[in-house]
Amino acid sequence: MEDQEVYYVDVLLPLHLPGTYTYRVPRELSGEVAIGKRVVVQFGSKSDKMYSALVRRIHTTAPHWKSKYVLSVLDEEPVVTLRQMEFWEWMARYYMCYPGDVMAVAMPAGMKLASESAISIHPDFDGELSRLTKYELQIVNILTEHPVMRVLDISRAIGVQKIMPLIRTMIEREVVVMDEELRERFVPRKSVYLRLADEYSSDEAQRALFDDLEHKRRTKQVDLLMQYLQMSHFGKELVAKRTLPAGSAMQTLIKNGILVAEERIESRLKDYSDSDLTPVSSIVLNDEQQRAFDQLNTKHLTLNTFLLHGITSSGKTEVYIKLIDEQVRAGHQVLFLLPEIALTSQIINRLRRYFGDKVGVYHSRFSASQRVEVWRRTMATGEGRYQVLLGARSALFLPFNDLSLVIVDEEHDPSYKQQDPAPRYQARDAAVYLARLWGARTVLGSATPSVESYHNAVTGKYGLAEMTQRYGGFSLPEVVCVDMKKESKEGHVRGHFSDTLLDAIREALAHRQQVILYQNRRGFALRLECDECHQIPQCIHCDVSLVYHKASNSLRCHYCGYSIPVPADCPACHSTHLRMVGVGTERIEEDLQIHFPEARIARMDLDSTLQKNQYMELLNDFAERRIDILVGTQMVTKGLDFEHVSVVGVVNADNLINYPNFRSYERAFQQLTQVSGRAGRHGDAGRVIIQTYNPTHQILQKVEDNDYRGLYADQDNERRVFRYPPYYRLIEVTLKHRESDVLNQAADWLAAQMHGLFGNRVMGPEYPLVSRVRALYLKTITVRFERTENIADAKSLMMQLADTLVKQEGWARVAVHFDVDPY
Ligand code: ADP
Ligand code: ZN
Ligand code: ZN
Repeated sequence: MEDQEVYYVDVLLPLHLPGTYTYRVPRELSGEVAIGKRVVVQFGSKSDKMYSALVRRIHTTAPHWKSKYVLSVLDEEPVVTLRQMEFWEWMARYYMCYPGDVMAVAMPAGMKLASESAISIHPDFDGELSRLTKYELQIVNILTEHPVMRVLDISRAIGVQKIMPLIRTMIEREVVVMDEELRERFVPRKSVYLRLADEYSSDEAQRALFDDLEHKRRTKQVDLLMQYLQMSHFGKELVAKRTLPAGSAMQTLIKNGILVAEERIESRLKDYSDSDLTPVSSIVLNDEQQRAFDQLNTKHLTLNTFLLHGITSSGKTEVYIKLIDEQVRAGHQVLFLLPEIALTSQIINRLRRYFGDKVGVYHSRFSASQRVEVWRRTMATGEGRYQVLLGARSALFLPFNDLSLVIVDEEHDPSYKQQDPAPRYQARDAAVYLARLWGARTVLGSATPSVESYHNAVTGKYGLAEMTQRYGGFSLPEVVCVDMKKESKEGHVRGHFSDTLLDAIREALAHRQQVILYQNRRGFALRLECDECHQIPQCIHCDVSLVYHKASNSLRCHYCGYSIPVPADCPACHSTHLRMVGVGTERIEEDLQIHFPEARIARMDLDSTLQKNQYMELLNDFAERRIDILVGTQMVTKGLDFEHVSVVGVVNADNLINYPNFRSYERAFQQLTQVSGRAGRHGDAGRVIIQTYNPTHQILQKVEDNDYRGLYADQDNERRVFRYPPYYRLIEVTLKHRESDVLNQAADWLAAQMHGLFGNRVMGPEYPLVSRVRALYLKTITVRFERTENIADAKSLMMQLADTLVKQEGWARVAVHFDVDPY
């Protein structure tokens, strides 16, 4: 460059650091730097620590100190937009953390290459060496000998200093992978597929085969083969084995070499060819849906956020699809947020049926390279650009280039809240802000809206559209509460089940209908209790009891993972009289099998679905009626649409209601209504049976009557009277330290300082419900601000106090973090 001016860049690092850092751009790179590109910089006291940092600003103002140089530029084109960085900065300000914290979760792992990153050969690398350059070949050779190496060590070993651009290319070409991805237990998805043996490829051979089987009266084999041929388009495609009924007919066909079973890796980013698309125009909205659509689709000058309150199975998804279609046609982008993507493969498939390969799915369980690909295709302007981006909360961070509509489905769902680590954000609320940055419309949808969103709707801050009928004219299921105390007295209870529930299940099974049983885990997990001293074994690191896990015959802590073998005697008094208390999902599953030996029962909870694809397989099996009864935790309450579920049972509703939190009634109503909504979606005969010791409880009454408005009116009133959101804003400060004395002193000091600033808005410090986790003691201080107060300044004052605290003698290791809107 001719220009003699010296350039500087302010960069963001994906680390827990305040603000940006300034580096000097060497002359030979000055034409290459641009806002949103990654540059390699050295950071920290060790001269060999290198990071990829993002260019936030370019300027000519020399800093007061001698700045280091940018070492290289990683990207030809920006990988992050200015608007994204502004969004991160807003998030950091609002949720009281640093932009670097946001960047660390916002960018896919594959884009955060650093000298400390560990690199290995990609498990899918085909070993094709001819397409590698000289240095790439050297890297592959070293990694073959030392399977895991840091970038830094590779650089030394092959004597190339500027190695990061090289590694970046190799990651993108899936020759190598970064450690973060390996930690996610990268397993390529394998499935068994069936094909017809080659000798039966001709029509004549197939006919002869059928003649022969029919002649021998192998009707089961004939049926199966017919099914296979249909699904495979007469042998043209592979069919996954699990999609066909398992049994002896299948085994015989494989044994006799008629069907060939092969293990294949399923393609991970499945593209849908245009040919199997259903045109959106084929959706005909009914009157109520059309009215909601029109309300959501009118141009308001100021109002751009809407709540769609539609009862379960009213067809909210169809309304979303219509809304999305308009934006896609106009060339815009749509963000579709779901609470937990693993559970919503149904919605993904529905959207793909309409929008085909314009749909990108962003998933924290995807590998780094897949995530990088979705990232790039969101940013793309031409070929391969995604226009409909579907994901759980992290999809908020994608690099949109023309966002015009944001949909937040099941907006009430607690999993939209990120708990740990920072940024501790509420994705629904952040989505509303993101949409505002883009001038885009937001539609929040739910059958059981959060009190906050409904409050915004009735006070006119959000527009409101309502749907009160199930699609197809089906009625909501009949909800019955069973009084377990009374039933038990009268001898109508067997184990955990009332006769009412057992009869309903029996009847459903007799009609070849399916059943969902919901057992909420909280407080119900199995624990071991001593009959003599009544002690329950506790975790040594946390202040919680250990939970029994049958498969591993161990007691495990659900907070830190600590586990011990089941002890033979009581750790406290050495009595050998130990017994199990509580009812886990495993137990329900077992007991149910005794009542219904013929039924096919499956369980869906965290233990049974740890592996990546198990959710989908379970849901698939249930959808195709290879399972009769699905027993599960919260997971079974969410958004599922199955045709043949006629009975939903709630094994015990009481624990759900009696949880000490200002939201517990709201949550209980939501969960019970949502799980009820799974019944009778495609027919009138749905029944919901809720077992309880407290059948007259106001929440159960409201669930029975499907009385959302009544619930809202009560809750909204309580929130106002007891000074909770949406009338007040809460900020929760948590302090942690190994020693309770140190923690107490630090917490008292901080609370006193805060009291000085904010008076009686400050509550605490106090011990939270679980006051010790992973060997750290916890204390919390809560601050309550009125809605009308501008609290931006208060937030920065609090962050300054936290900085001051850790600088005090002996308190350097006190961790202080903030949780804004901690609910
Ligand atoms: P919700 O999301 O409100 O619970 P869904 O969108 O899942 O409801 O709709 C429930 C069922 O009704 C689905 O199987 C859906 O395909 C069907 N459905 C809803 N609206 C329509 C429509 N306009 N045309 C055809 N089918 C519809
Ligand atoms: Zn623990
Ligand atoms: Zn004991």
